[in-house]
Amino acid sequence: MDNQALINRDLACVWHPCTQMKDHETLPLIPIKSGKGIWLEDFSGKRYIDAISSWWVNLFGHSNPRINKALYEQIATLEHVILAGFTHQPIIELSEQLIALTPDNLTHCFYADNGSAGVEVALKMSFHYWQNIGKPQKTKFVTLQDSYHGETLGALAVGDVALYKKIYAPLLMEAITAPSPAGCYAEQGESYESYARRQFSAMEQILHARHDEIAAVIVEPLVQCAGGMRMYHSIYLKLLRKACDHYGVHLIADEIAVGFGRTGTLFACEQAEITPDFLCLSKGLTGGYLPLSVVLTTNEIYQAFYDDYTKLTAFLHSHSYTGNPLACRAALATLAIFAEDNIINKNQSLAMMMQQAVEPLKEHPHVGEVRQQGMIVAIEMVQNKTTRQAYPWQQRRGLKVYQYGLEQGALLRPLGNVIYWMPPYVITPAEIAQLAQITQAAIDYATSD
Ligand code: PMP
Repeated sequence: MDNQALINRDLACVWHPCTQMKDHETLPLIPIKSGKGIWLEDFSGKRYIDAISSWWVNLFGHSNPRINKALYEQIATLEHVILAGFTHQPIIELSEQLIALTPDNLTHCFYADNGSAGVEVALKMSFHYWQNIGKPQKTKFVTLQDSYHGETLGALAVGDVALYKKIYAPLLMEAITAPSPAGCYAEQGESYESYARRQFSAMEQILHARHDEIAAVIVEPLVQCAGGMRMYHSIYLKLLRKACDHYGVHLIADEIAVGFGRTGTLFACEQAEITPDFLCLSKGLTGGYLPLSVVLTTNEIYQAFYDDYTKLTAFLHSHSYTGNPLACRAALATLAIFAEDNIINKNQSLAMMMQQAVEPLKEHPHVGEVRQQGMIVAIEMVQNKTTRQAYPWQQRRGLKVYQYGLEQGALLRPLGNVIYWMPPYVITPAEIAQLAQITQAAIDYATSD
């Protein structure tokens, strides 16, 4: 088997996600033969550092022996069973553990099979809760500028990345968008905290004026990932929790990308010491092995649906593969690694090394900001360092970084002009140094004209 033969066969029949397929006339597709740790290997033996954990899902490396073993055992026992009317050991154990690990007061787990579907569940449950308790006018959702919550129509409607959303506008419910709290927009010299506090007043005004018609506010806690790895101070979440309580509005925390240690704590909400009404998890939940998502919620919400069947208050939402036992087993093996290897503590030194490794890029003439939150590092390329003026998107500078990175053996997949690392937690100091060297050279190359 060689790369080119596979590329030809693929392009004849596969339509790839988030891709202008015409790009592949000049941009080679990369068939991957195997993965081990942070490395991906193609059919010519060339290796790539998976610096973005394959769309932020992988936590403990590809082909992890401990997760593999758990899956071999599960596959020999039970591969799948309908979750309506039936249950199985992996889902019970997983639910018990998630309830114990997540912030207090989250008491019930509802499963789906990908992140977007998890967001749909949270939106529908919030809306439906208000219907069930006699407040049918609460039908609107508030979202943040630059937010991203997935690609299905409901999730897309509460996102704010025009590139993915604009064309579908006629199909989408209208969301209320509050201005960004992200520190990258702060005035020169203004702290992230002060900016987040200042920006909160717009959110407060929205809630004050429209809480009667608002079901929930949905946020990505601490880091708005797909919107450009935009980071904000935890004070915003604290203020938001308080205001949601005050105005009787749900808070949905979408930790699909930031959960499971990405921001330095197991869940980002911990840093604001808050409990959301709905917590959406996916991606790292299964260590990057299998699609699974879960929405955790409170007993108060659960009880609003719990009644005689004929009252028609039940949450009649389902997906065929909901709570798949193999996915749950992978999740349990992932949680075991967190506990047994003391990962959250260990990541502190990895995060420090990542910080030191990108430090020199702060001085780069075309880097506007280097930002970091735990195991996420982002580097924003700009045309003008002083004014922070962005490169026009049509120049596709990020694509140049991507191409250069691949040549040098690293999978970096920038979001526009923002290059980022979100590596598996098994990356070594030497590999961080290697990644830094490739990243620096890729940015030099992409900004050289
Ligand atoms: N929410 C957030 C915060 C995400 O980052 C993503 C995926 N990038 C999603 C939801 C959607 O998840 P999925 O791609 O599994 O549908």
